[in-house]
Amino acid sequence: MKCIKCNRIKQTSQVGPFPGPLCNSCFVKLIEKRVRKDVRVHKRLKPNSKIRVIDDGSQTAAVTIFLTKRIANEIRSEVIVDFDAECDILVIPWNLDQEVEMQLQKMFAKNPKECKKKEVKLLKTVSKEEILHFAKLKGFEGKKTKSYNKEIAELLLDLEKDHPEIKYSLLKSFEKLGLSL
Ligand SMILES: [Zn+2]
Repeated sequence: MKCIKCNRIKQTSQVGPFPGPLCNSCFVKLIEKRVRKDVRVHKRLKPNSKIRVIDDGSQTAAVTIFLTKRIANEIRSEVIVDFDAECDILVIPWNLDQEVEMQLQKMFAKNPKECKKKEVKLLKTVSKEEILHFAKLKGFEGKKTKSYNKEIAELLLDLEKDHPEIKYSLLKSFEKLGLSL
């Protein structure tokens, strides 16, 4: 099939909110571009810093580590993949699905728990399906990332049938309301 980005006939797939099929290299590039934009706009990573990434063995962590290292390289920052090391910035494996589920749970809960200290969710704009595909294309190992809230995850899956972009638009709304940082 023809890739909507580079127009070449290649092996393509339709994963995520893109308006048509993408070849493997365009998919990887567009995900990275989205993550970089989010990092830049929100100033999530700083130059000359020590960045610690938590590895929980998930696919989300594998992709988080890969992209954090690529970005850190360019801003002269050091990346440590560890649980206990000292750091300036802490990056956690956390994706779009988990963020949206958490925000919805907070809205439904009578006494929502306040967010803890600030942690960088590098893949907050990337869905679990996109992470699965990205990890597969890059040959990354890792267990499937767990849902934050299984019931809400199932509800979202149902809603996605008629509204494929619902998670992305919900995240935008949460950001506008200042709920999702
Ligand atoms: Zn392409």
